[in-house]
Amino acid sequence: MMMGLVMTQQWVYPFTEGSETMRELLGGKGAGLAGMTTAGFPVPPGFTITTQACRTYYDNDHIFPKGLWSQTDAALSRVEEITGKHFGDVSGPLLFSVRSGAAVSMPGMMDSILNLGLNDETVEGLAKLTGDERFAWDSYRRFVQMFGEIVFGVPRERLHAIAETVTAQSESGDGLLSTEESRALIQRLKDVVLGHARTAVPDDPREQLRLAIAAVFDSWTNRRAIDYRRLNGIDEDVYTAVNVQAMVFGNSGEDSGTGVAFTRNPSTGAPIMYGEFLSNAQGEDVVAGIRTPEPIASLEHAMPDVYNQLREIADRLENHYCDMQDLEFTVDHGKLWMLQTRRGKRTGRAAIRVAVDMVREGLITRVDAVNRVTASRLEELLHPIVMAGADDEVIATGLPASPGGASGVVVFDADEAEEMAAAGKDVVLVRHETSPDDFHGMVAAVAIVTSRGGVTSHAAVVARGMGKCCVVGCAEIEVDYADKLFRVGNRVVSHGEWVTVDGNTGQVLAGQVDTVEPELDDYYETLMGWADEFRTLQVRANADTPADAAAARRLGAEGIGLCRTEHMFFEGDRIEAMREMIMAPNAIARAEALTKIEPYQTTDFEGIFEAMDGFPVTIRLLDPPLHEFLPRRDETVERITDLKLRLGHAQSLEDINRLLDEINERETILRQIERLSEVNPMLGHRGCRLGIAYPEITEMQVRAIATAAVRCAERGVVVLPEIMIPLVAFATEFQHQEEIVRRVAESVFVQYGMRVDYTVGTMIELPRAALTADAIAETAEFFSFGTNDLTQSTAGLSRDDASRFLPGYVRRGIIEHDPFQSLDQTGVGELVQIATDRGRSVRPDLKIGVCGEHGGDPASIDFFQRVGLNYVSCSTYRVPVARLAAAHAALASRVDP
Ligand code: PEP
Ligand code: MG
Repeated sequence: MMMGLVMTQQWVYPFTEGSETMRELLGGKGAGLAGMTTAGFPVPPGFTITTQACRTYYDNDHIFPKGLWSQTDAALSRVEEITGKHFGDVSGPLLFSVRSGAAVSMPGMMDSILNLGLNDETVEGLAKLTGDERFAWDSYRRFVQMFGEIVFGVPRERLHAIAETVTAQSESGDGLLSTEESRALIQRLKDVVLGHARTAVPDDPREQLRLAIAAVFDSWTNRRAIDYRRLNGIDEDVYTAVNVQAMVFGNSGEDSGTGVAFTRNPSTGAPIMYGEFLSNAQGEDVVAGIRTPEPIASLEHAMPDVYNQLREIADRLENHYCDMQDLEFTVDHGKLWMLQTRRGKRTGRAAIRVAVDMVREGLITRVDAVNRVTASRLEELLHPIVMAGADDEVIATGLPASPGGASGVVVFDADEAEEMAAAGKDVVLVRHETSPDDFHGMVAAVAIVTSRGGVTSHAAVVARGMGKCCVVGCAEIEVDYADKLFRVGNRVVSHGEWVTVDGNTGQVLAGQVDTVEPELDDYYETLMGWADEFRTLQVRANADTPADAAAARRLGAEGIGLCRTEHMFFEGDRIEAMREMIMAPNAIARAEALTKIEPYQTTDFEGIFEAMDGFPVTIRLLDPPLHEFLPRRDETVERITDLKLRLGHAQSLEDINRLLDEINERETILRQIERLSEVNPMLGHRGCRLGIAYPEITEMQVRAIATAAVRCAERGVVVLPEIMIPLVAFATEFQHQEEIVRRVAESVFVQYGMRVDYTVGTMIELPRAALTADAIAETAEFFSFGTNDLTQSTAGLSRDDASRFLPGYVRRGIIEHDPFQSLDQTGVGELVQIATDRGRSVRPDLKIGVCGEHGGDPASIDFFQRVGLNYVSCSTYRVPVARLAAAHAALASRVDP
């Protein structure tokens, strides 16, 4: 407690009284300055006004809390004592900087004012004190400019433009005005401020300080700070502290300057100090981009002693905080001053290297290292990152469905995407939504954008499986297939125009924006090895082909948690065989189509079992939402109309016959589409309902699985098949299908004279299944939560359409996040808990996993850990994220002895 101030709350902490542990009260900057001061680093003296003072200021209708001003005065006197200078002293004034500093870092979001304390008289004192009149007047000019902008709200550009014009016209030509020129400029700036605010810039330093403190408090609610907090999920009520600190001058001559330094390289993590220095300048010059700073090595040449001292301080700070630091410093006439230390922001790659190096250096433990890397940041190591700058044009923003970044020319048609890609062009496929018809175009494209659909839509799920960058639900985009263009308001993007898709942010940018390529190194392997030691949840992949399965193994998957067998028909002309089967008018036609399909399935299963040698493979029986697999009705109608038109103009009998045949064929297809079309296909004839209506489909699939398993086992591959029945609502549905599975598998084993152990389980993806999980577990040997459908059916939100309004729900705070991205723990999660408990009540060793998209979401993984699931399964390229998130979840759930 400061002496003499026992009667009220302590609003003001001199740097000598605070500590680095008081972040919440002093903000990050204030706590860092206090920490450095008490540790004996060279910090200009000053004090911090607490976040609590700011909160009270807001609670009191923008009135300073009682006692704040007197405490500020007392703290100010202490700085006067330490520096031997006086605030407002006309013969050699003490000047202050006034800066914001919240507990969470919000770089550049709030305001700061430098050189506070200057007026027409003290400026003369500063000139005398420094022996540099031009410098003193330039400092005064900077003060008036910042004060006008920040305290009185004069547009920055307006004041800046005046200063720039005057400087450009200056006789000196060296960017510094003569005293007379500065004096005239300052008067002009003051006039503009007066005209704008109807109030003059005060001369009284204490009045300047009071207004500056209020302005920093007020900046907590400026537009950009509010937006930043919303974007980064920062609480509104943490508030900012204000740091008032004696000025030191980086712009007081050639032996002065300003710089920033990271104790390690923030983009690679290499343990080499990294930063920039600008001689004879203040930090604001760097921010304003007036002059370009030099690499920190320039300081080593120009002032080796200062450089060495900085190096030493950097090392000590790192050892002290056990983390990479981001430092701000100023050199004033050859003396080094530290102005800030904070945790350095870093790329995902750097985060891993710094964590691993620090364990090796003995600074932190392996648990610390694993906990320090945010799981989602691993995406950066697996996919290219778009390096968008402020000047890049964002055409539209949708949902970031699959990470990575790529540039290509816009195409609207899958065939064309394939042709252009074959000709060596990078293409971005833009569609309303995608279906298996577009699969070849998705394979050919470098990125996919859809105007509709959510993060579990076809485009999203398929792109994620391929590890391809994808943005969905880009509702601002109006796709016009006929004119081959898309519109966003008045902006038109035509076929062939370059765009860059950023699957991490959901942005579609104009032109070709640079990307950084991914790379996995030893540091990554080391950290992931530690994560694997800590986690208790197993991590599997959702993979549908042998190639996916092999990629999943390489990324550390311990099995396949979901092989969507309908996805095995996306490639080549397999879709035709699949359609034939779906649209078969009778059992004979269906049997014929199934005969075509079976060999594909058998070979694929063999490939998958081989890739997963020794690891379990969950194969889900067919679950094709019919609307995704049928030819499009509108396109079929269009084709028939076109054929009929051509028939009208046909010249030869041969042509007429050919066209009539095709019309006939298409009309048959149209009838089938209409026969099979469902008003609500997601709740329609899919999942086990299909296998119950057409048992021959289940029989064919089980024959293929059992045959593949036996053939692999004969070759010595360790096969662990788990056959999964989808979309079960009634225990009897499961029993019906299970009976077929066991009967057919047995017949294959008899045929080959060899048997393979397997299990039969179910997906829990409907509320009724969750509620009757005990009945289902009587026969089902495992459960896998299909949280995509479970979310859809619990909240009554269509997976395909809800993205139109869900982002608005999140913006309005109606829901915290999109429940298809991160599990709705209170609603859907409750069903997961109920099903787990009821299932295990009848079968205590019931193996339970999750294979919806939530299996790759860190927050959901934490929930699944707490529920006690055995594994999570996610798209292949999310496997590393899930492994690390599972380690975090396990560490968080450890009970301290
Ligand atoms: C699910 O519903 O969560 C699931 C994994 O199945 P699909 O996404 O194929 O419907
Ligand atoms: Mg499902």
